[in-house]
Amino acid sequence: MAMSDSAAGELPFPTDFVARLRDLIPPEHLQKCLESFWGQRWVSFRVNTLKVTAQELEKELEALGISFQRVPWLPEAYLAPPENRETLVNTHAFLEGRIYIQDLSSMLAVHVLDPQPGEEILDLAAAPGGKTCHVAARMKNQGRIAAVEVIPQRLYKLVANLERSGVTIVKTYLADGRTIGKKTPNRFDRVLLDAPCSSEARFDARDPASWKHWNLRKIAECARKQKGLLLSALEAVRPGGLVLYCTCSFAPEENEAVVDHVLQQAQGGVFVEALNIPLPNAIPGLTKWQGREYHPSLELACRILPTHEMHGFFMCCLRKTEEATDTYRRRERKWSRSPKHRPREKDAPS
Ligand code: SAM
Repeated sequence: MAMSDSAAGELPFPTDFVARLRDLIPPEHLQKCLESFWGQRWVSFRVNTLKVTAQELEKELEALGISFQRVPWLPEAYLAPPENRETLVNTHAFLEGRIYIQDLSSMLAVHVLDPQPGEEILDLAAAPGGKTCHVAARMKNQGRIAAVEVIPQRLYKLVANLERSGVTIVKTYLADGRTIGKKTPNRFDRVLLDAPCSSEARFDARDPASWKHWNLRKIAECARKQKGLLLSALEAVRPGGLVLYCTCSFAPEENEAVVDHVLQQAQGGVFVEALNIPLPNAIPGLTKWQGREYHPSLELACRILPTHEMHGFFMCCLRKTEEATDTYRRRERKWSRSPKHRPREKDAPS
């Protein structure tokens, strides 16, 4: 349903938030973006290829009379009309882990990370584990994933999701992700940092609880934590390896500014790798905003603007250079001499 700009402008969110959005979103995308906070989104889900093939799943859903369509740009993804959500969550396919209901932006992150069978992957902020399960499926349950989460209750959810999805290659760790880089430097082929954030892109105009805690102080707090987590991720990845940093926030303080900070800290040991996302709602990262300037390579990052099919998202791929090896290797030798510094495996609740 089309909505006039003034109607979309009556969003019940804090005035500062809406003003920032109007400043952040290019004018040609603004109306669609504002409208997306009202409308019911399509349900997106992913076939869990660890349990079933796409063909088998499609047959199963068709037999139940559930309508769905493939997402042409993402191999495992499907969309169903909003009214099908209830039906989908009650199917055996959902309850037995053959499908995982997940936002398309989240699936896109794993597609961009591109994990391969046999690799060693770190998921630094993992619960409830939608992306961890997707990573394991892409790896065909071959290799190793370390999944870190700091909140025990959320870790239990992660473990339950891993079990339901038939994932066998994950070790879970109850830990602050900011400590992991120092404990296991230069180790992982790829690191996913789906950072805790102000969740602005998850705001729902019909649910006041979704934006209740939003304020600029909270954004600054998130940004501080994100910088610590991203530095840890960069320390943990091997030279030549890849870190994918993402958030579901629109705030440049949580996105471009965080990456800009680590680029300065890394002094050439890390560079931004171009993301090529051929979607009409994908726009480049910002290189300046409200008088602040960010490293020019931030243009290679990607902002996914919200639509009726997917939430807003920010993604930036960082590659650790081989030249970073010396500094990091010196530390690695030190840590590898003291195995007690390795993160302990969390006793997974059964
Ligand atoms: N990647 C997850 C998925 O796809 O299901 C969602 C991750 S959510 C955006 C961020 C997670 O980071 C939350 O579960 C939060 O509890 C966790 N978190 C917050 N601070 C953390 C920290 N210091 N270290 C590790 N995890 C943290």
